[in-house]
Amino acid sequence: MATIESLLTSADLPDSPTPRLDAELLLAQALGKSRSYLHTWPERELDAPQLERYQASLARRQAGEPVAYILGRQGFWNLELEVAQHTLIPRPDTELLVETALALLPATPQRVLDLGTGSGAIALALAGERPGWQVMGVDRIAEAVLLAERNRIRLKLGNARFVESHWFSCLAGQRYQLIVSNPPYIRADDRHLAQGDVRFEPSSALVAGADGLDDIRLIIQQAPDYLDAGGWLLLEHGFDQADAVCELLRAHGFNAVESRRDLGGHQRISLGRLINE
Ligand code: GLN
Repeated sequence: MATIESLLTSADLPDSPTPRLDAELLLAQALGKSRSYLHTWPERELDAPQLERYQASLARRQAGEPVAYILGRQGFWNLELEVAQHTLIPRPDTELLVETALALLPATPQRVLDLGTGSGAIALALAGERPGWQVMGVDRIAEAVLLAERNRIRLKLGNARFVESHWFSCLAGQRYQLIVSNPPYIRADDRHLAQGDVRFEPSSALVAGADGLDDIRLIIQQAPDYLDAGGWLLLEHGFDQADAVCELLRAHGFNAVESRRDLGGHQRISLGRLINE
């Protein structure tokens, strides 16, 4: 008999770092219930369609697919976002970027740009926290722009907009007070790309050339043409890239350059301010 408890106990996910949690999330979804329902009704039996849904999801997880893609959603900041294979799964590390961005500028009207927005996670978190800001999110991938737009509509955030653009390619003449980005920054030969959840994420959202800095270099070079005087550029990067990113920022005229640590203690973001003479 397939009771909730027996299914959770027998779920075989040896390659997952969080097997019990994964099984609970997949089972809750198959039942259309919350995880607390599973704890309240461990003896409840699944009907045939529920069992079929759960087993299909479990098989996908056993093949290595990230739970967020199977569920089609992921929590980020205080938002529940739809996610899909075309975009990176939002990471808790990236909440540091949101937190820092919120502290850089007052809540008064500001023009903010999120480059490589993916699911729209950063742009929507900023738009939700600062109703006075106008947040533009751009992505090179059309499916990502459509996904971010669906998230925006579901979350009813009228002060965000999403358009297709390869970095700044479709933003000629626009100026912002703040530009943020979580660009790809992993080295092409990084062995982590062959392990775990990242295998299923688009490499266009992860990999940036031999040293992982190709896209960051391009963004830092071009950002001054799209920033107002006194505007900020704020970038997420790899745990060992802070020195290189700070050097690039200074070389392109940014002041007040500094890095901040994520919850894991790694220098995860760097920022600078453009003060024109
Ligand atoms: N932090 C992510 C990882 O290590 C990478 C995200 C990115 O390249 N922007 O998997």
